[in-house]
Amino acid sequence: MTTYQVDQRGFYGEFGGAYIPEMLYHNVEQLRRRYLDIMAEPAFQEQFQELLRDYVGRPSPLYYARRLSAHYQTRIYLKREDLYHTGAHKSNNTIGQILLAQRLGKKRIIAETGAGQHGVATATVCALMGIECIVYMGAVDIERQAPNVSRMRMLGAKVVPARSGSHTLKDATTEAIRDWINDPEDPHYIIGSVVGPHPYPDMVARFQSVISEEIQAQLLEKEGRDHPDLMIACVGGGSNAAGAYYHYLERPEVRLIAVEAAGLGVDSGESAATSVLGTRGIIHGSKTLLMQTEDGQIVEPYSLSAGLDYPGIGPLHAHLIDSGRAEAVSITDREALDAAFFLSRQEGIIPALETAHAFAALDKISYGPEDLIVINLSGRGDKDLGTFVQYVDEY
Ligand SMILES: *Cc1c(COP(=O)(O)O)cnc(C)c1O
Repeated sequence: MTTYQVDQRGFYGEFGGAYIPEMLYHNVEQLRRRYLDIMAEPAFQEQFQELLRDYVGRPSPLYYARRLSAHYQTRIYLKREDLYHTGAHKSNNTIGQILLAQRLGKKRIIAETGAGQHGVATATVCALMGIECIVYMGAVDIERQAPNVSRMRMLGAKVVPARSGSHTLKDATTEAIRDWINDPEDPHYIIGSVVGPHPYPDMVARFQSVISEEIQAQLLEKEGRDHPDLMIACVGGGSNAAGAYYHYLERPEVRLIAVEAAGLGVDSGESAATSVLGTRGIIHGSKTLLMQTEDGQIVEPYSLSAGLDYPGIGPLHAHLIDSGRAEAVSITDREALDAAFFLSRQEGIIPALETAHAFAALDKISYGPEDLIVINLSGRGDKDLGTFVQYVDEY
């Protein structure tokens, strides 16, 4: 039987593993040995569940979108991850990791961020726990994402500009890893998605799995069955998708739809459609699909949405797509904008630009009137209003 869970060695099929420099071995190995035991401790679970409930605001509603369903002539539910503290699913992961870091005795947290959403979610939990927080961010992104930089500073985090390469996310990651390697005090690195060396992809997927756990109970109550026919989520690194898929991975009756950013178009040279353009390689410590030149240089990704603007994809998703378990759909900037305006005006919900990609998939895939579709509404669009207003006259 095939399984989509990580194996003993940290692989999903041929993808995953931990390709790390010797200097990081101790830190990552400590995490690998202890994460499952710590997460299984009743006291850990109690604190994690309490914070998800009272601090983040879980469970989120599963909302039946009547007008959207009527338009697409099917049945569509929205999982409202947009309603949480800090505006997206990301705090499920940062809360889990900060509690783990505490139990490992860590005194300092490092993180990298692109658009600043993961940086804000990390700065938030560090403030909550009184732990020092350093966030690496590309110098160009610091300029582009000023409101999130202000939020992180307000929360007491130190934002360090990365000035190598293109001054964006992958350079921030490089700087964060350099800090991680060089600090003898052994900080915890809070990775923001289901990427990085084992055990990060599995650990983050487990923290996010609360999404599909809630969907099961909510669908059972509303529809008398615990699963949808289609589960749709956008994929940058893939953490909100991993959480939405998690309890359905071994249930072939649930079609898993992974929606990635095509930027200006898959063949335009300005894209982040990793499943189409990616080839096997190693990025940030794991073997996966990534966009690279023939001699292995990482190709600079592009998407209007900063959260999907990543040259790789988590190893779980590489395996799901490669094995045919998940269907990948690529959505352009323009199609995502269309979907964002459409959802805003059909349902009164302004989605994050990343999330809008998931909605655009409704125009690209097949389904019937009796199908039950769940779309993971990963985050709200407040952070993207500056982008949306530039297009508002066209809609
Ligand atoms: C960061 C972000 C994403 C992309 O990250 P994943 O790890 O792929 O989920 C998607 N949606 C929103 C709202 C985000 O903030």
